Parts: sequence; structure tokens; C-alpha cells
Amino acid sequence: MIEIKNLKKTYEGREALKGISFTIKEGEFYGLLGPNGAGKTTTISIISSILKADSGDVIIGRYNIDTHPQNVKQLIGVVPQEIALYNELSAYENLMFWGGLYQVPANELSNRANELLKQFGLEDRKNDKVKNYSGGMKRRINIASALLHKPKVLFMDEPTVGIDPQSRNLIFEVVEKLHKEGLTIVYTTHYMEEAERLCDRIGIIDNGQIIAEGTLDQLKNSSSIKETIAITFSNLNALHVKEIATFWSDMSQDENIIHFHSSDIKSDLSKLVLKCNQLGVDIVNIEIQKTNLETIFLNLTGKQLRD
Ligand code: ATP
Repeated sequence: MIEIKNLKKTYEGREALKGISFTIKEGEFYGLLGPNGAGKTTTISIISSILKADSGDVIIGRYNIDTHPQNVKQLIGVVPQEIALYNELSAYENLMFWGGLYQVPANELSNRANELLKQFGLEDRKNDKVKNYSGGMKRRINIASALLHKPKVLFMDEPTVGIDPQSRNLIFEVVEKLHKEGLTIVYTTHYMEEAERLCDRIGIIDNGQIIAEGTLDQLKNSSSIKETIAITFSNLNALHVKEIATFWSDMSQDENIIHFHSSDIKSDLSKLVLKCNQLGVDIVNIEIQKTNLETIFLNLTGKQLRD
């Protein structure tokens, strides 16, 4: 459905995109995950025709965005990072305005606007001026306006930044429903929890490059990091540590906590507990630290996702 080939973009001599390529299948929910400044907004702005790349190709449906911009425009809905609404108009009037721009037939537009206002939980407030809305409510209208013309692909650039939990949950529910109905979605975020919850496939972006890509399971399996069993002891001494290190070499000690790296938590946990009992060290806490996108990102780049 979407084919991105070798996108490059430089701002004032600074390379923001260094050759981004990826492919998205019809109906897929694709997440671009990366820290601030990684190149997410630049990428999604180029593929949604807001910004021009220096080089590279974007094909959506059967159309190249450079040669068939109008065909692409009809296929896509765009939710940019900056909310684009008229504050002096009501939510309903805003939707009528945006629907006109997207050339939604006049006889369908009002029904479609009301349907979306209901879906986004804003039916009761539809006649209030947008200037009186919370950030989350504005964001919901912004998403609704991108859906008026029933696009086949929805681009969303960090749609949950700075909004209240209620709006965030409602947005998740709506996009999950749209995904189930077959909409292709491209979603940028720096929140790993969102990528884990929503996306079929994730492209991890850093410094203008995709550094890893796959389903969550593929990313977990391809990364060399292991899960960790962190055991806290109450009476750990140097002799215990020496014995434990002989028994389990892939470990690290942090005062009275030992982190045991494991590729099979289930069977390793019982082995470790048994050994600790034999040694007479008292366990006060056991914590399992699973591999997640944060640890994968840390492993790939040596830095936190939320720097
Ligand atoms: P954020 O989450 O902060 O929006 P991002 O991953 O979306 O980050 P981009 O906004 O695409 O990243 O920025 C990529 C790089 O390009 C950054 O170094 C940024 O400072 C730079 N950049 C982005 N827009 C411009 C611009 N208009 N002029 C100059 N540099 C820019």
C-alpha cells in the first residue's frame, strides 16, 4: 500500500533523513518509534505531502506523490503534530470546513460530521467554539477532520502528546477500531507503550535512519539482550557472590541485588531459587525484567528512548 524508497532531507546543511526506506501493507498499523529529533515528523510530513524530500520516492496505492499528488490526496488523511483548527468556529463548523476542502459531497458531509463527532465523544459539545475545548478535545476534532473523506490511509504524527488520559484512551479505542475495519495507519510516537499496544509492525528510527524494523516479537527475538531476573537478598556476603558467580556467570551485582540474565525465565528461576536456598542466602524480592522496546532501543543505540 505504501512504498518509501531512500528518502533524504537536509535542513540548512544538517542531514535530518539519511535514506529512509520501508514498505507498509494494506491494513497494517505501522509505528515509527524514535526519540525527539530522530526524524519522525520529517518522514511523516514527506509521505503525507506536507514537505518535499531532497530525493527518494513515495508511492501510495499505485500513485507516486510527486507525479500524482491529487490522487494521493484523496487516499490519505493527515493528522499533523500541530493542531489545525479554527478557534472561533464550533467543532461541527470546523468539520464542515475541512470536509469542503477534502471535497466530501455536500449531501453527505453533515451526516459524516455528526457520525464522527459521536465516535469521538463530542456530540454534546459540537456547537461550542473550539477555543473553549481542552487540548485533548481539539486533538479528537483534528483526527475526526482527517477522516471525513473516508481515507484508505491515515497518517498520525504523535497524536497523544500533551493530552489528558481520557482523550488518549478514546483516541486509542477509535484508532484500534479503524484498524480492525481495515484502515492502513502510520503512527509516529516516542512512547514505547503506544507502539507496543497499537502497532502490527514498528520501525525504530534514530538519527535519520531506520535502525531496526519488525513486529514486537521479531524485534525482541532479533535483539541480543536477554530478560533479567533481579533477586534482592538480605544477607549477601562476598563468599555468596563468589559461589553464585561460579554457578551463573551471566550476572551482575548491584549491592544486595543480583541481576541474572536469562533466555528462559521459567526454568532458570527455579534453578536460581534452589541454588540460593542451598547457599543459605535469604531472598527478599524477585523481579522479572522483560525485554521491551525501551531495552531494545537502549541496546541498539546506547541511549534512552526518552532522552
Ligand atoms: P520530535 O519528536 O521532536 O518532533 P522528530 O523525530 O519528529 O522529533 P524531526 O522533527 O523530523 O524529528 O527532526 C529531525 C531533525 O531535523 C532534528 O535534528 C531537527 O532539529 C531538524 N529539523 C526539523 N525541522 C527543521 C527545520 N524546519 N529547520 C531546521 N531543522 C529542522
